[in-house]
Amino acid sequence: MNEKKAIYPGSFDPPTNGHLDIIDRGLTVFDAIIVSVIVNPSKDALFSVKERKEMLCDIYSSNPRVEIDSFEGLLVEYASKKGANTILRGLRAVSDFEYEFQMALMNRKLNPEIKSVYLMPSPEFTFLSSSIVKEVSSLRGDVSTLVPVSVEKQLKKKLL
Ligand code: ADP
Repeated sequence: MNEKKAIYPGSFDPPTNGHLDIIDRGLTVFDAIIVSVIVNPSKDALFSVKERKEMLCDIYSSNPRVEIDSFEGLLVEYASKKGANTILRGLRAVSDFEYEFQMALMNRKLNPEIKSVYLMPSPEFTFLSSSIVKEVSSLRGDVSTLVPVSVEKQLKKKLL
């Protein structure tokens, strides 16, 4: 039987419990998930691609169904290259919808074989984003319930 594999692309700057919620939910639907950091030189990031991959690797080191990778260029081309026919994304409050809808339709136009699948996180993560975590953390706020312990440590190292 063909393995059901999905790509979960994103900035993950840094990974939050919202991202982990989507990955964990995704693992109940897919056999394997490739979490892939988008290399986007024009986007100002706090953590380097290498650091973001290291944080994700650390979180999923004991799970052989989760692969950590990074990519540049067209997502649908990358997905085909990795043998995945599904793109997994998370949907938070209404604010995500318009952008995600546009992207899903464009990706479908570029390659109709590749499907986009959206999962909703637990309500407590609906308003959680990497940006808000960075902002609160830089102001010495407590983010311990919003990110894994390893990420919290990296944030403190970087920001304080
Ligand atoms: P991008 O910069 O591409 O939006 P992100 O790292 O912010 O990348 O997010 C990657 C994916 O994870 C997106 O589909 C985003 O909607 C989703 N996501 C991010 N935070 C959450 C969250 N708290 N709950 C559910 N999905 C989330």
